[in-house]
Amino acid sequence: MSNRPELPPEIARRRTFAIISHPDAGKTTLTEKFLLFGGAIQMAGQVRAKGEARRTRSDFMQMEKDRGISVSASAMSFDYKTFRYNLVDTPGHSDFSEDTYRTLTAVDAAIMVIDGAKGVESQTQKLFEVCRLRDLPILTFCNKMDRESRDVFEIIDEIQENLAIDVSPASWPIGIGRDFLGAYDMLNDRLELMDRADRNKVAESIKLEGLDDPKLEEHIPEDLLAKLREEVEMARELLPAFDRQSFLEGHMTPIWFGSAINSFGVKELMDGIGNYGPEPQPANAAERQIAPDEKKVQGFVFKVQANMDPKHRDRVAFVRLISGHFERGMKLMHVRSKKPMAISSPVLFLAADRELADEAWGGDIIGIPNHGQLRIGDALTEGEMLHITGIPSFAPELLQAVRATDPMKGKHLEKALMQFAEEGAAKVFKPMIGSGFIVGVVGALQFEVLASRIELEYGIPVRFEPSQFTSARWVLGNGDAKEKLINANKQHMATDNDGDPVFLTRLQWDIDRVVRDYPEVTLSATKELM
Ligand code: GDP
Repeated sequence: MSNRPELPPEIARRRTFAIISHPDAGKTTLTEKFLLFGGAIQMAGQVRAKGEARRTRSDFMQMEKDRGISVSASAMSFDYKTFRYNLVDTPGHSDFSEDTYRTLTAVDAAIMVIDGAKGVESQTQKLFEVCRLRDLPILTFCNKMDRESRDVFEIIDEIQENLAIDVSPASWPIGIGRDFLGAYDMLNDRLELMDRADRNKVAESIKLEGLDDPKLEEHIPEDLLAKLREEVEMARELLPAFDRQSFLEGHMTPIWFGSAINSFGVKELMDGIGNYGPEPQPANAAERQIAPDEKKVQGFVFKVQANMDPKHRDRVAFVRLISGHFERGMKLMHVRSKKPMAISSPVLFLAADRELADEAWGGDIIGIPNHGQLRIGDALTEGEMLHITGIPSFAPELLQAVRATDPMKGKHLEKALMQFAEEGAAKVFKPMIGSGFIVGVVGALQFEVLASRIELEYGIPVRFEPSQFTSARWVLGNGDAKEKLINANKQHMATDNDGDPVFLTRLQWDIDRVVRDYPEVTLSATKELM
């Protein structure tokens, strides 16, 4: 099935997606099984290491130290049947919503994993809202059906109610908890049986002729079969049938019931994203839309990870390719600096190890090691000056002043802060009057992570202190009015790491005053990175 018949086959077979879930729902386990079936078994241990590292703060710091692990798990590619899957990891911590938002700009779909006993949890809801901002198609996996879970209709109702999306059952579970046997595949009329003895084995799959097929009686006890028939009949009456268009537009989510730890339902989910898509999607630039079937190679940076090796201050920029056939050694135009860049050692995230990429296609994620030239939002093209839109920077919600404990290290601190700002790990503002820096983040935990990283990676012990400001707004607009505003409010003004002016205050009243006094200028809580 193909929604863009003109796509080159190599691009049409790519599926680039993320997994969203509440902690503990089973994202790590599901990822492991994807890799297992995708032939990348060795990877499982690494994913696990990362999943568990996230659980406590000190372990989280350890993970941050151990950049290698988090990087190799940031993007993972694997093949299954005729498809190439690119799974982009969403940051594990609920604080990092801006990171998450940007990660989701690099994918075409998301898998939402929920725990069958818990339903839609807070973090799921938040991440779902971010997906909705981009109308991302969402496939739902209701996990842990081998445990006591809630009534299936109740779970579906909850998703429909809380997330305001149509839910269409792709499979229907047979039994629950200890009685869980498997599922009826409603899209393909098959019986899928779970193998409890071998957790890594793909379930047995039996082709059926509808729910009256006598084969069902051989495998399912009478009472469970009667219940299955009754429930599926009700489901067909009460719930919408799967509509691919509605799914691709983000209005409907198909739901599979399974058990990741038992490898059950995983294969069907992979088939689902493979068969129903979406294929690599277009991206928006200020100048025009960029389509995946364009011949030329075009892509954008959605994430930067610095200091993977603290001895060398190099970084990896994660690039989502939008179109074209990329080959190693290619020269691409770095649009922001207007300079060509030879991409000589791009990295693909295949299987267990990072590998040098000889080629990649629209839809793929490649890593490009660099010394800081590549920043989030940057476009790479074959010469055309395109500026990618829709990758915003959000005003931070918490501000603190930062100071090196050793005043002699001020200059070094500036360099470290600028690198973190470019990586997107924090906002850094330099006040126009006075010295020092104001750091802005979304969640309080980020201050601690930053302090620990600045000390670890740069050897500079720092102190965060309360700041006199609580809000930051970018000053947008041209010409005289902007200059006037800046000159009349110097004590409120700072510059961000790009040198753009930012208005800092602790009073909404101040913001209202400026908006009233300078109608030609906008105070914005977001800034487009491009
Ligand atoms: P994450 O926090 O979303 O990455 O969740 P994990 O994949 O680490 O899983 C959380 C816990 O649930 C782990 O102890 C898993 O072994 C367990 N788990 C995952 N999938 C299943 C499942 O299908 N059934 C049961 N019973 N436990 C599961």
